[in-house]
Amino acid sequence: MELEVLGCYGGEVRGRYTPSLLIDGSVVLDAGSFGARLSLQRQLRIEHVLLSHSHCDHVKDLPCFADLIIGKRRRPVAIHATRQTLQVLRRNLFNNRLWPDFFLLPSPEQPVLREAPFASGRWFRLGHLRVKAVPVVHPVESMAFVVRDTAGSFVYSGDTGPNDELWRVVNRLRDLRLLLVEVKFPNSLQMVADAAGHLTPRTLARELAKLNGVDVPILLYHLKPECVAEIGRQVKALADSRLRLLRQGERIRI
Ligand SMILES: [Zn+2]
Ligand SMILES: [Zn+2]
Repeated sequence: MELEVLGCYGGEVRGRYTPSLLIDGSVVLDAGSFGARLSLQRQLRIEHVLLSHSHCDHVKDLPCFADLIIGKRRRPVAIHATRQTLQVLRRNLFNNRLWPDFFLLPSPEQPVLREAPFASGRWFRLGHLRVKAVPVVHPVESMAFVVRDTAGSFVYSGDTGPNDELWRVVNRLRDLRLLLVEVKFPNSLQMVADAAGHLTPRTLARELAKLNGVDVPILLYHLKPECVAEIGRQVKALADSRLRLLRQGERIRI
């Protein structure tokens, strides 16, 4: 499996983009920035989009993507999300007011996008991958993912505040190769982080204490783009050799 980090920040300024990972060229994990980051040819190779939750920074490139590819593909692109997240998208975004309903266009028989709902807690197939969603703690329903192929698995935390369930799942994985964990705010904004369902380096350290014998790289993402240096210093002070910040543009082989 190859991951390409198209965007990995919890906000945007020039050169730093919201979360989108491209997996093996055909699967997009979170739709924060893939449209702005990929050529038309590369966007036409996308078969699946996997969404952790409905917040704008994770779905905002979907509308223009749908508009871009209309009439250029035979099959609809599968949008994998929980039923609740799909409902939020259909009612509030692809509702023919904010944007056309590309789940029914150009025709209901052959639309641009198709709903691919998944249930949390159960493995499901996504192209050549197997995926399990784990509910995490955020103001809206939000999922972490275990993504697996024959070489091993990685975990993507999604947007989450402190939680227990994700770490229970992680502790049981025998083929874990990589953890991607959110940390949005510096310690000085702890109250905002707690209210918004996000981690700081301080709460991250408490979360990592829930891991048992997990010795894989733990790469941090979803940093507020203007706080990267401050968060980086606070992460360094944790003196945990597994930790580093995820770098936009990097490719990771699993
Ligand atoms: Zn969010
Ligand atoms: Zn987010």
